[in-house]
Amino acid sequence: MTKLKDVYPLYLNNVAAQPNKDLEVTDKFTNEVAFRTALATPDVIEEAIAGAVEAAEPMARMASYERQNVLQHCVTRFQERYDELAYSLCVEAGKPIKDAEGEVGRLIDTFRIAAEEAVRNYGEVQPLDISERAKGYQGMWKRVPIGPCSFISPFNFPLNLAAHKIAPAIAVGCPFVMKPASKTPLGAIIMGEVLAETDLPKGAFSILPASRDGADLFTVDERLKLLSFTGSPGVGWDLKAKAGKKPVILELGGNAAVIVDHDADLEDALERIIFGAFYQSGQSCIGVQRIIIHEAVYDTFKDMLVAKTKTLITGDPKDRDTFIGPMISEGEAKRLHGWIEDAVSGGATLLCGGNRTGNMLEATLLENVDSNADANREEAFGPLALLSKFSDFNAALDEVNDSKFGLQAGIFTRDLFKTLDAWDRLDVGGVVINDVSSYRVDNMPYGGVKDSGLGREGIRFAMEDMTEIRNLVIRRQ
Ligand code: NAD
Repeated sequence: MTKLKDVYPLYLNNVAAQPNKDLEVTDKFTNEVAFRTALATPDVIEEAIAGAVEAAEPMARMASYERQNVLQHCVTRFQERYDELAYSLCVEAGKPIKDAEGEVGRLIDTFRIAAEEAVRNYGEVQPLDISERAKGYQGMWKRVPIGPCSFISPFNFPLNLAAHKIAPAIAVGCPFVMKPASKTPLGAIIMGEVLAETDLPKGAFSILPASRDGADLFTVDERLKLLSFTGSPGVGWDLKAKAGKKPVILELGGNAAVIVDHDADLEDALERIIFGAFYQSGQSCIGVQRIIIHEAVYDTFKDMLVAKTKTLITGDPKDRDTFIGPMISEGEAKRLHGWIEDAVSGGATLLCGGNRTGNMLEATLLENVDSNADANREEAFGPLALLSKFSDFNAALDEVNDSKFGLQAGIFTRDLFKTLDAWDRLDVGGVVINDVSSYRVDNMPYGGVKDSGLGREGIRFAMEDMTEIRNLVIRRQ
């Protein structure tokens, strides 16, 4: 039986350190303290940033195969520690064990992709002799690491969203300081434990759960050359305003939609949409929040959704039958429960669910929700989905776009021309055909538009952000 330790260190300049035990992390199902770790104070963060600055040159000088070896070591060790990693997610994030295992699988994929990409950091040879004036000139460019990076990650994917920053940084040779979410710091800490087994140059990485007074340093310090933030839109855009000259990547929230057209395979769509809406209690930035259904199949598909949703087992995330575990906190569950009650008082129909006990909220379906209700306009980030009806496909696309967010959208259709129209017209970072908005594989470009963020992750794309082009011009004499 897997067990967690009582105390975990943070990682300061590649080394385990225990400056205090100030951060208590709870088991999100039992609400008991699961372990303690340290909260980095401003002086510790300062030491980490100074270490990252020192490490920038030795890291940039590492050979591609050496960086690849580090990433490959992580792949092997994460495979060996699979059960422990899954269990840690189950405890600190309240993630149902099957979802937790899925995340560990994606962590391994993400490092494996980065290990492959580490030896493919290509440049280009470019003829510059485009006119008489440039005759005899030849150009070529390569990518060089941008320098020390700052990473901030959210609570809901403690391993894989940290991995989407850490793995590409190692692949290109950037040192980094990372602040994981204080509610779920363990995933990143265990990654630190594994990285500490490698011979990365001293200062290459620090993993620092941080107190609020120290958190600002991750954003404002000018020695950090890139800020990559995943989290809520309010915090993300606020940090961008404080980040100074450094480029900022923002992976933020959404209220994603799927369209179910009249020719969709309804059984297949049902399986995928139930998963997309309710896996890990709906706490996914691309989770299905709005289900837009063609009028010809609306009643049938509604009945199917309600019947299936009622079968989902809510309970202990460590139990393999559990589909809906706890939300991250009682405050979050209360917030979403309040939105459901407001929607119903505003005229919505509660189709199923709607009950809350502590941080456990039942999987809930609503229809006829006012377009201005919080449940519709804001990010639910919990087990809630709304049903609406359409007759004209273009109007359904407009409804998807009627949002301040734009991460991903899913469409169940067999029509190639509707696929192409949707790809052209939807104002999102990605369109998924015959699957849900929440579909993601770790090598694809992933990110949002509008309030949902800036820039793309997905190893190759993050590697571009973590490097700068350095050009070379040669004049043949
Ligand atoms: P959050 O914004 O509350 O916190 C995210 C991180 O920022 C945490 O580490 C937190 O401690 C830190 N933070 C908060 N205030 C800070 C400050 N002033 N300075 C520095 N750091 C600060 O988000 P959360 O509740 O942890 O995560 C949920 C949100 O993340 C949702 O909005 C969700 O949609 C979004 N999210 C987006 C993606 C994506 O890839 N687009 C993925 C997962 C989650």
